[in-house]
Amino acid sequence: MKKYSEMNTIELTTLRDELLNELSGHKEKGKKLNMTRGVPSDEQLALCNDMLTCLAKDDYKAANGADCRNYGGLDGIPEIKKIFAELLEISPDEVIVGCNSSLALMFDNVAVNMSHGVRDGTPWQKQGQVKFLCPSPGYDRHFAICNYFHIEMVPIAMGQDGPDMDAVEHHVSTDPMVKGIWCVPKYSNPTGIVYSDETVRRFAQLKPAADDFRIYWDNAYGFHDLHARAKIPNIIRLCEEAGRPNMVYEFASFSKVSFAGASVTCMASSKSNCEYILKRLTAQTIGPDKLTQLRHARFFKDAQGVMSHMEKHAAILKPKFKLVSDTLNRELKDLGIASWTEPAGGYFVSFDALDGCAKKIVSLCADAGVSLTPAGATYPNGQDPKDSNIRIAPTFPPLNELEEALGIFCTAVKLASAEKYLAG
Ligand code: PLP
Repeated sequence: MKKYSEMNTIELTTLRDELLNELSGHKEKGKKLNMTRGVPSDEQLALCNDMLTCLAKDDYKAANGADCRNYGGLDGIPEIKKIFAELLEISPDEVIVGCNSSLALMFDNVAVNMSHGVRDGTPWQKQGQVKFLCPSPGYDRHFAICNYFHIEMVPIAMGQDGPDMDAVEHHVSTDPMVKGIWCVPKYSNPTGIVYSDETVRRFAQLKPAADDFRIYWDNAYGFHDLHARAKIPNIIRLCEEAGRPNMVYEFASFSKVSFAGASVTCMASSKSNCEYILKRLTAQTIGPDKLTQLRHARFFKDAQGVMSHMEKHAAILKPKFKLVSDTLNRELKDLGIASWTEPAGGYFVSFDALDGCAKKIVSLCADAGVSLTPAGATYPNGQDPKDSNIRIAPTFPPLNELEEALGIFCTAVKLASAEKYLAG
């Protein structure tokens, strides 16, 4: 097949008419296919069903003797602290276990820093217009937190090795109102890239203009490898070695390890930061859901148990990611109208269409019954400057539905591209 840029008007018009026909055929079938959010499939959730019954009637005591049915245990039961500590290669007293949403931990953390300041310093919101650096494309819900608190978002370009570190260093070291940066260091949402060792090292070496600048290191996909385990340097240790042990908050989550609605999560940071946070937590709650924590401890046993379990997830997810890759390569590779990522883990494929085509593609797909994450969602304020990026989330639909949805998606990409060339 010829590249679209090499086609003449007659060829493009014929092609467009064929594609229009194809799409209206899909529309008539009236299917409803969903590729919006990156959530685990039923098959993945079932991997943990034994967790629902793994606590016997008299099994409610944690290793420290705490009664998990009762109040208390703010920082989490020792078994789960140990599992997170081993997975993140830190010490248990650098871990605070949370309930089922790491996003809630991030939201709380930003809220407290806005209203009460970092480590009892001047509240961010009293210092002027707070800014966060937002590597983009990035995770829409990070951006939603900034929107909620009226934090100005400064987009930072994402490359193969992570965010543009020259830009990060420039903003962080020159602007005292830059108070944070969102990072998804492993299998980034949505590009799927893994930060290089050099990128992580440069993060730890940052010299912020603001003492209360913090790195939000959202390691949401730290255990979600499709193939061999990708390792990234330990940011908590590196910040400590660089003399700024309190500069980073790391987050991890079992939402996509066990049950997204009933998992455990954690926030990890220096022991001193954890002490501050625990002090605040005493005003917020009398204790987390320790029975869920105990269930996880009994089911996984240890960090190795978690990693073995993740291999079962990978076995389910690999064919889905392969299907995306095979379909896009077969349908679009030689046409010069798109590029996409081939991630080795995580939950997403990031797709770049011709400039100005993403919204059109998402809307064509919606008309034909395929829901996608809104175009622009991967950029601050929903504004993709090129209107080209689309996040593909292949994990939830069964393979046959994914195949159908991808077929429609590729037709929509071709149609939007043909129309763009026809419009000149
Ligand atoms: N962080 C990232 C980068 C994510 O992609 C997601 C979910 O998609 C989350 C956090 C949400 O995590 P949790 O379920 O622990 O709130």
